[in-house]
Formats: sequence, C-alpha cells, structure tokens
Amino acid sequence: MIKVNEDYLKLPGSYLFSTIARKVAAFADANPDKKIIRLGIGDVTQPLCPTVIKALHSAVDEMASADTFKGYAPDLGYEFLRKTIVEKAFAPLGAEVYADEVFVSDGAKSDSGNIQEIFARDVKIAVCDPVYPVYVDTNVMAGRTGSYDAATGLWSDVCYMPCTAENGYAPEIPGEDGVLCASGEKVVPDVIYLCFPNNPTGATITKPELQKWVDYANKVNAVIIYDAAYEAYISEADVPHSIYECEGARTCAIEIRSFSKNAGFTGTRLGYTIIPKDIKDAEGNTLHSLWARRHGTKFNGAPYIIQKAGEAVFSEEGQRETNEQIAYYMKNAKYILEGLKAAGYTVSGGVNAPYIWLKTPDNMTSWEFFDFLLEKANVVGTPGSGFGPSGEGHFRLTAFGSYENTVEAIDRIKKL
Ligand SMILES: *Cc1c(COP(=O)(O)O)cnc(C)c1O
Repeated sequence: MIKVNEDYLKLPGSYLFSTIARKVAAFADANPDKKIIRLGIGDVTQPLCPTVIKALHSAVDEMASADTFKGYAPDLGYEFLRKTIVEKAFAPLGAEVYADEVFVSDGAKSDSGNIQEIFARDVKIAVCDPVYPVYVDTNVMAGRTGSYDAATGLWSDVCYMPCTAENGYAPEIPGEDGVLCASGEKVVPDVIYLCFPNNPTGATITKPELQKWVDYANKVNAVIIYDAAYEAYISEADVPHSIYECEGARTCAIEIRSFSKNAGFTGTRLGYTIIPKDIKDAEGNTLHSLWARRHGTKFNGAPYIIQKAGEAVFSEEGQRETNEQIAYYMKNAKYILEGLKAAGYTVSGGVNAPYIWLKTPDNMTSWEFFDFLLEKANVVGTPGSGFGPSGEGHFRLTAFGSYENTVEAIDRIKKL
C-alpha cells in the first residue's frame, strides 16, 4: 500500500518561482511582440570566469588518465579544498575555523534544507519574516511546524521575527520570554535561522549587532544557522563576513556558504557548511559528529572536477575575476537603487547584496504590483509576500541581469 509522508501534503500551493514562471509564460504567450526583462529569480547570468574554466578543463583531463583518475570523492570534501577554504575565507578574518569542520557539499540550498535533520523533532525554530522559503518548508516536511493558517500564511509552531521598515529589515533580539510564535505563545527558540546579507531584503547587520545574537544564542543554548551565501557582496567595512568573527560563535553557530552567487556556480553546484566541534547538546553530543554521519550516509561527495574549480576561485586570478563579476552586478544594483529613488520609490538593500527591496506604490499588494509591472513595463520581479507575510507591500528586484537590460527595465519603470 502506498502511504505518503503526510507532512509534505501540508505544504501550501506551489513554490513561489513556479507561480511566477507560470504568470510570465501566460503573459509572453498573449504578447509575443513584447520584450520581457526578468529581474525576478536570483540566478546569475555572467559566464564562469576564465580561471575556473581552466581548472575545470585540467581536472577533466586528469580523469582521462589511470594515474590521476578519481572515483568517489571523500564524503566530507577533498582536503585541498577544505584547507583552502580555511586559509582564504576564514583565517584573514581572524575567524577560528578548522579544515575538519568544513563539510563540502553540492550547494547551500541542500545544506540549509537538510541541516534541520540533526535536531530533535520538537525543537522550536525562529525565522525572519520575510525569509528564504527553504528554511521553513524543510521544517514543514520534517513535521516540526504545527498547522498552517492560509489566511495569515503562518505556521502555528514557527517563531516569526518580523523584518520591517521600522527595524531596518533586521530582526530584533528576543526578550527574556522569547519570540512570539504564530500560535500566540512566546517561545525561547532552539534553532534560529539568520541570513546576512539577506535574501530577499538585501539588509545586513553590523558586527556588534551580530555579536548580540551570538551572546543570546549562547545564553539560551540555541543554535544559529547563519546563511552567508551573499558574503562576497559586502562592500561596507562594519558588516561581518562570517559569524565566526564574533566571540563565542564556535559554541552556537553553523555557517552555510555557497559558490553560486560569488562565482557563478548556480549550475555547476558547490557549497559548504561549517560546524565547529564545540557545539554540543546537554549530554555532550556534537552536532559535528551528527552532520558527519548524515553526510556520510546520504551524500557521496561533490565531484572532484567541481571541487578543483572551487579551489581555483580562491586563487589570486580567481579572486580578481570573480570580484569583477560582483562589481558588474553591483553596478546594476546601484542603477536600480538610484533610478527607483529618483522615481519616488522607497528602496533599500542593494549596497551589500544583489537585491533591491522596494515598497510598492499606492498601497498595492505585492502581487498587484507584480501584475502592474509585468503588464505596464514588461518587467518581472518577485512579490515580497512570497517570502512571508511581512513581505506584503514589498517587491524584490535582482541585480543579476545584464547591464543593458537593467538600464532598460529601470528606465521603463521611471516612465510609468
Ligand atoms: C541562492 C541562495 C542559496 C542557494 O545556493 P546554492 O548553493 O546555489 O544552493 C542559499 N541561501 C540563500 C539565501 C540563497 O539566496
């Protein structure tokens, strides 16, 4: 007898981006003469840089010789990449991270979705609202989130931390009695998801602010899952690149990183998660050993060829070339930010992140503005409400398009 996992059935509707794709396809069919510009989905458009392509070719050639052929990769990642990550991404920040605490994977989406497996079923999770949908949906699949209220878009057992214009789109540290869950109960969270620079809002927090989160997590014995997928876009000096720049993070923080947004690996697939050995439960069990067991059982290692390409990102030329790509996207971000401001929009983000977060004009809902922009300017963005109820009345544009298309899209919006 087929019996499905009923927790999966609780997930409402379709994934946000499938809904957008369907609406855009319908518009394109009805208006074949219109040039649609897509500034919606967070995917890069620049090709892989020459240094990465060279590393890929050379690793492919190694596979052709019996002397250098590679079979299964070590589940946790090749030593050459784990060491390079520590030396190039963490040591320069003064962050204490060891090579055997780096778990190489096929990307940050799977890591941020799978990491909840190592926690008890009854842990309480806290998320920002709006939020990258993967964090909540994977906890729904794990049966951890209680019941869904279609009217509010909230799960009863999830603690939502509103990120609004009033708090600069950064969540407030919970008080003594915890965070308000959708059930109305105040709960001290066990697992706190943070993502800075943020997707979708593009917001960041300063190092002293992040330190307060680390202190709070240590005080209440919670774990912070810190998604740093956009770390490479940070341009301001007081914004931390890693949570391990904060004192005490080794006993409470897991950090997830990706090669997708900084080096264009969205189709190539490579990421990693840091779990310090110092994070333990009351019985002394380490999260590190549980994740190692999980990884070893369910994952057979990222491909050698791709890990060599990842290593090349950290070379001097790799850094120069990928930084040029980031600068290209950030030039788009600046054009969007300034153009929309000039047109009278209230905008934020776009300084340390490739996302611009705007308030919809004339009290339009996020989806009303989506339709308006698609029909009147033929520009596709992402409705803020798709990321959570506090995203209602907001809209996300990405800087990942070509410069020419970005300029054309913003100039069209200015004329509306
Ligand atoms: C894009 C993105 C990821 C996914 O990265 P992959 O490594 O491509 O899976 C993770 N987290 C956030 C917040 C993202 O925006």
